Amino acid sequence: MAESSVDVLIVGAGPVGLFGAYYAGARGLSTAVLDSLPEPGGQITAMYPEKAIFDVAGFPAIRGRELVSNLVAQAAPFSPGYLLGQQAIGLERGDDFVVTTTAGDRVRAKAIIVTGGIGTFTPRPLPTGEELLGHGVVHFVPKPDEYSGLDVVIVGGGDSAVDWALLLEPIAKSVTIVHRRAAFRAHPYSVEVMQKSSVQIVTDAQVAAVLGDPVTDVEVTVGEESRKLPCDRLVAALGFLANLGPLLEWGLKIEQRRHIVIDTTMSSSVPGVYAAGDICDYPGKVRLIATGFGEVATAVNNAVAFIDPHASVFPGHLSDYAPPGVLGSPTSS
Ligand SMILES: Cc1cc2nc3c(=O)[nH]c(=O)nc-3n(C[C@H](O)[C@H](O)[C@H](O)COP(=O)(O)OP(=O)(O)OC[C@H]3O[C@@H](n4cnc5c(N)ncnc54)[C@H](O)[C@@H]3O)c2cc1C
Repeated sequence: MAESSVDVLIVGAGPVGLFGAYYAGARGLSTAVLDSLPEPGGQITAMYPEKAIFDVAGFPAIRGRELVSNLVAQAAPFSPGYLLGQQAIGLERGDDFVVTTTAGDRVRAKAIIVTGGIGTFTPRPLPTGEELLGHGVVHFVPKPDEYSGLDVVIVGGGDSAVDWALLLEPIAKSVTIVHRRAAFRAHPYSVEVMQKSSVQIVTDAQVAAVLGDPVTDVEVTVGEESRKLPCDRLVAALGFLANLGPLLEWGLKIEQRRHIVIDTTMSSSVPGVYAAGDICDYPGKVRLIATGFGEVATAVNNAVAFIDPHASVFPGHLSDYAPPGVLGSPTSS
């Protein structure tokens, strides 16, 4: 159990929280970043570290893992404290805020920025075969190289399922995607690429049984017909059950138990508590990394003015603040 004190506590070390840590440091705030997962990177690290991301400004294409590591490196000159593997549970409000964690830590902060994404996320279980998790059934594909030479069946029709099919297609012996509907929910371009690839697509299909221990085959029903697919790895990509959990008890205005309602300064209904990224909501909100980066910059700048009412919301142009040794700073060559 530890006590610490910072200017701003960022709850959630996903891409948006990590960029917030850089931005808060650049604005002269001491910062801690708290996450229930053991590694930074949020959904990227947990779900698609090897996927190429094409819609982050300045990068024509960047692997998820690389983006996270760049974000950590960008914040590093400002030495944010990382409290990983512990969930934020309680919020006490007095002159400052105190957030308590599952590890029993208490973090005192003058302002809080919640970048909790979809909250604590648990994969949606397979209707059948979930008991074989770890015996050939998986929910994530953190190390695609381990799929070399394997028959892979992916179950699902969203972005994760299609992205993993495309990622594993050049590595695995075979990739089959099984989806219960006719149309995929994933990005249309990804679906088009998959349709032109060697991925076998089985639609309007249900998994009837997962056979073997470890898994050897999957039985699927397509209409009246039953098919047996060879399978060394079954990737269950049926989405996630998101739960804001303890954040629901913080007294913030919440939309449909999933999103924190914010105003144009990214302030929640509790002054001094801001939100950015996937967790926040306002009319027209688009849940992407690019939009989250802008939101957290706005949140940090407004938090600066909340902490010190004499400070300006506008930061000036940040090249003036570049840390020593970083490109553009007075000390860089
Ligand atoms: C398969 C897939 C592909 C995608 N591809 C793209 C893409 O190509 N481009 C794009 O822009 N977006 C993409 N996205 C969406 C993108 O990943 C999200 O928009 C982004 O991760 C949101 O970042 P965030 O930091 O707001 O939240 P998250 O990444 O969800 O991170 C939130 C973090 O907060 C932590 N947390 C939550 N509650 C607590 C708590 N109480 N205490 C401590 N920690 C907590 C969580 O553990 C998590 O690590 C994709 C998503 C998926 C699933």
